[in-house]
Amino acid sequence: MATLTSPDGFRGVFRADEDARAVYSEAAGIARVMPRAVAVPVDVDDLSALARWASSTRTPLVPRGSGSSMPGGAIGDGVIVDLSRWRQLGDVNVAERTIRVGPGVLRAEVDRAARAVGLRFPPDPSSGAFCTIGGMASTNAAGSHSMHFGATRRWVRALDCVFDDGSRAEIRRGSPRVGNVAALKRFSAISDRLIATELRTPSIHAGVIKDSSGYGLAAYAQSGELVDLLVGSEGTLAFFVELELDLIPVAPVTSSVLGAFESIEQAVVAASRARAAGAVACELLDRTFLDVAASGGAPRQVPPDTESALLAEVEGDDRASAEKSAHAIEEIFRDAGATTVRIALDEHTETELWELRHAASPILARLDPNLRSMQFVEDCAVPPDKLPDYVRGVREILAANETRGVIFGHAGDSHAHVNPLVDVGRADWRERVERILDGVTSLTSALGGTLAGEHGDGRLRTPLMERVWSGEALERFREVKAAFDPKNVLNPGVKVVLSGERALGTIKYDPALAALPPRARSALARVERERAYARLRLDLLDDKTESDP
Ligand SMILES: Cc1cc2nc3c(=O)[nH]c(=O)nc-3n(C[C@H](O)[C@H](O)[C@H](O)COP(=O)(O)OP(=O)(O)OC[C@H]3O[C@@H](n4cnc5c(N)ncnc54)[C@H](O)[C@@H]3O)c2cc1C
Repeated sequence: MATLTSPDGFRGVFRADEDARAVYSEAAGIARVMPRAVAVPVDVDDLSALARWASSTRTPLVPRGSGSSMPGGAIGDGVIVDLSRWRQLGDVNVAERTIRVGPGVLRAEVDRAARAVGLRFPPDPSSGAFCTIGGMASTNAAGSHSMHFGATRRWVRALDCVFDDGSRAEIRRGSPRVGNVAALKRFSAISDRLIATELRTPSIHAGVIKDSSGYGLAAYAQSGELVDLLVGSEGTLAFFVELELDLIPVAPVTSSVLGAFESIEQAVVAASRARAAGAVACELLDRTFLDVAASGGAPRQVPPDTESALLAEVEGDDRASAEKSAHAIEEIFRDAGATTVRIALDEHTETELWELRHAASPILARLDPNLRSMQFVEDCAVPPDKLPDYVRGVREILAANETRGVIFGHAGDSHAHVNPLVDVGRADWRERVERILDGVTSLTSALGGTLAGEHGDGRLRTPLMERVWSGEALERFREVKAAFDPKNVLNPGVKVVLSGERALGTIKYDPALAALPPRARSALARVERERAYARLRLDLLDDKTESDP
């Protein structure tokens, strides 16, 4: 394929050299796809020009924020469009409780600005220090407090969008408009029919609390707000070039409760009661997680025979009400069979309790260098009564493939993260990854779950969607995509499968990595170390002093 050159009139950075392409061939997940080029537009007009060029040449564009996407939504065979440098942070509108930001602003920056005036931005992915608001809206990101406050969708008031042909429109809740934008006109022509069908048979996984797979058609049919459909579309329907977000007041006081259980069933019952009682977070730490934490020397906060632990948080208007709520959760945990319960009523003890939740990542990073914590079955959610079957099923699949794994997640949402620790020193590691993915996909499908509770489908899960979605739902997703992007230039292969597309293409731990240009390898190693993802990527390529580690 001929090397791409910067489109006529494009004013930003456009690089098609091997170093730049290699550095942008990865995001946070396990996949790697060599892009055709990397573009950093300077402003919205520049992005529109790029989109017009892509549409006329049918060149795929892959929007990108920080590249912390796990299922490969921010990589692909096209031009990576890096919007992480669009970082305009508007003033908080205290009266309206809103803030307007560029797509490259980090979640932590929004929350910091809000807290300075007594407000907060509730969606709290654990990647909040480095993921962008554009990426969060595109994946409908969530976090430990989403069981109470909902995922990102609920907090987006308006989206300023650039569509497939470079046209631009702001989509705002409460003010439907189509204007002269071709994509909106095409969608408007089918939307009444889609809404009527959705209201009869919604595109949902019944009983699942949290879902970022497919398009948000069910939410759109309920609200009639296009914002609800665009949020979670993973860069396949439009670029988000500015976002207006809703904020709420900070919680005056919080308390936390840790409970240890001898069975996962007890923990699941306790989690759903804690949710009903108003807990704002309720995290699950499975035995696999506790074992890794203990083996890495983390202080033991639960008895050795603990099968599952729960960490819950409550909020209150004052110390007395937070304490009362914490004791209510303590009672719920004890009633459900907890062997030990610890309550943290002050900030210091709360931090200590939550250290257990944060203990695993640094320990995983220090494991045997051949053991890679891989994210490819990291995001399934199932109906709450199915969570015990899911956790047991996953443990069996891992054991059958002689692979250790770490299971943890958001018990209150019945959503479990699973990180298999794959020994890449074994000749058959790739086959084992394939078998684990296949087994967990079948298990999730049998339990009526979703493969993506909060991380989205990406290139990893899009080919698997037919195993967890009905044919009717998939057909509706295709119709949405065709209306917004008939030439399939916006992140093709995500949300709607391309013919011949496979779930696991090249994995970044494949020996092929050694074939990368040394400067690119070195830059990628630094990105990994600094955990700063795309924000650093072009800067790293400019660093001439770097040596190959
Ligand atoms: C250590 C770690 C922890 C994580 N924890 C969580 C968690 O707790 N909860 C959670 O939900 N996720 C989590 N994630 C996943 C990830 O951080 C989120 O999906 C995040 O929202 C992605 O933001 P980003 O800026 O990195 O987007 P990217 O990875 O760059 O992109 C993600 C998707 O959004 C699209 N996109 C990006 N920007 C735009 C834009 N401006 N317009 C249109 N499309 C766009 C991309 O094409 C891609 O499909 C975690 C990731 C890591 C590495």
